[in-house]
Amino acid sequence: GRATQLYRSGEDAVWVLDSGSVRGATANSSAAWVVQFYSSWCGHCIGYAPTWRALAEDVRDWAAAIRVAALDCAEEKNLEVCRTYDIHFYPTFRYFKAFTKEFTPGENFKGADRELQTVRRNMIDFLQNSLGGAWPPACPLLEPVPPHDVLSLCDSQGGPYVAVMFESNSSYVGREVMLDMVPYENMLVKRALDSDGALLKKLGVSSVPSCYLIRPNGTCSVINIAKPLRSFFSSYLKSLPGVRKKPLSQPELLSREEESVGTTVWREFDRSRLYTADLESTLHYLLRVELASHRSLEGEELRTLKDFVTLVAKLFPGRPTVTRLLELLQEWLASLPLDRIPYDAVLDLVNNRMRISGVFLTNQVQWVGCQGSRPELRGYPCGLWKLFHTLTVQARAYPEALSGTGFEGAPQAVLQTLRRYIRTFFGCRECGEHFEEMAKDSLEAVKTPEQAVLWLWKKHNIVNSRLAGQLSEDPRFPKAPWPTPDLCPACHEEVKGLDSWDEGQVLLFLQQYYSRANLLDTYSA
Ligand code: FAD
Repeated sequence: GRATQLYRSGEDAVWVLDSGSVRGATANSSAAWVVQFYSSWCGHCIGYAPTWRALAEDVRDWAAAIRVAALDCAEEKNLEVCRTYDIHFYPTFRYFKAFTKEFTPGENFKGADRELQTVRRNMIDFLQNSLGGAWPPACPLLEPVPPHDVLSLCDSQGGPYVAVMFESNSSYVGREVMLDMVPYENMLVKRALDSDGALLKKLGVSSVPSCYLIRPNGTCSVINIAKPLRSFFSSYLKSLPGVRKKPLSQPELLSREEESVGTTVWREFDRSRLYTADLESTLHYLLRVELASHRSLEGEELRTLKDFVTLVAKLFPGRPTVTRLLELLQEWLASLPLDRIPYDAVLDLVNNRMRISGVFLTNQVQWVGCQGSRPELRGYPCGLWKLFHTLTVQARAYPEALSGTGFEGAPQAVLQTLRRYIRTFFGCRECGEHFEEMAKDSLEAVKTPEQAVLWLWKKHNIVNSRLAGQLSEDPRFPKAPWPTPDLCPACHEEVKGLDSWDEGQVLLFLQQYYSRANLLDTYSA
């Protein structure tokens, strides 16, 4: 597996979990948790990482009550645990109450909002709704106190500071300040609503939110701050004499293994060639990781797997050891009378537990043409595109390969199967939704195998231009219309001063590029 690169324990405030730590961390914890199950190759997850990091940083002081964590489901060592938590799409956000005794996959949490503030408020809502014995002891009670209680507090002397946040019913500032002050001693924060106008007047609260402070010496008053914002209130309270951060007690420090930061060696390769290693790594990841996130398959899922495997078994242009494995899998799936299969049975076959000679699929990821300049870039989605293009090109070159499958003479069959794979199994849900939209718009118009090849090429270029400049773009492989002029000069022409495609030439180029003859089994140029 590769090292988790989107989040680094120690450096980021995000708690980096893995198969070894997630259960122990979230079960019977004295704090609640929000965990992002992500995939380090998912472009949307990469784009979202800065928000999640900033959120964790922003609520660092809330850790005794609630924690922000992340777990990378693309790491093979985490495969089983992501299955256990029933994670099929990335990112998936789950909330875990404090003190859960039995195993739970967590509650779905609305985490995927670009507005950090929205996610922070969702955390508060979840905390407040998780009543019933699951209250983190370090978490202050977030419900408002009756405003009248404030008067009686004023009489007491010698206790800690009590800060009462007066605010409207819909305001979150009071609760945010309460949580901000969790690690500080000698300070209690409460909140009260602004419902009793007469009382507010009596206390001198002229606007909300306001903070009414009861000092250990018994003096009480509204504090004076420049702006009624969370950070102003919190930093004022933290700066009071006698208010200190509690000695650091971190009873639940996770066993943080030294992470082997990806020391992948860059290998030069030839951009005009297709590499067996990329296609096989893709199949390995698809069969042993992506599909394996499902415990069992039935209905549309099972039908999609069967059709997809049939397609690959008939059209995969790679080494015979792999083709034989795919054929075995296809025959086995076809022969099954069951309408529901446990995925472990597929894994048994893929791992060739029967030890049939000449049947083998690498169980290691080795990217060549899909190498990224950082481990989280390119890789699987790149390989999947290449596999898809290869399939459309092979279906055009060898139509007879599909005879007897029900796919023969159906020019849309390959694309429709790829579309169903993406919709049903591809972990990047956003990608799937975009792809589905494109398919809905124009797939029906495909009438020949040549049009199928060109359709996928065109759609891929649309994706390329949509993703250009985003965080998931590898600077070494900028997203651009493909093939570039240097790869295929004949594909480009100038029409009235504008760069345009010669689609006839593009088709020829794709047929050559994604052909058996262009496939290299070696790992270097
Ligand atoms: P990729 O786009 O993965 O391309 C891989 C290789 O294919 C290129 O290096 C090149 O050799 C070749 N190639 C490039 N363009 C074409 C073309 N037009 N025709 C034929 N071959 C070509 N990520 C998101 O962030 N949001 C999305 O919505 C999204 N949707 C996706 C949908 C699908 C179906 C797939 C498979 C992936 C999707 N991704 C999405 C991932 C994204 O498209 C890239 O795969 C990923 O960012 C890695 O980029 P890359 O630089 O390796 O090039």
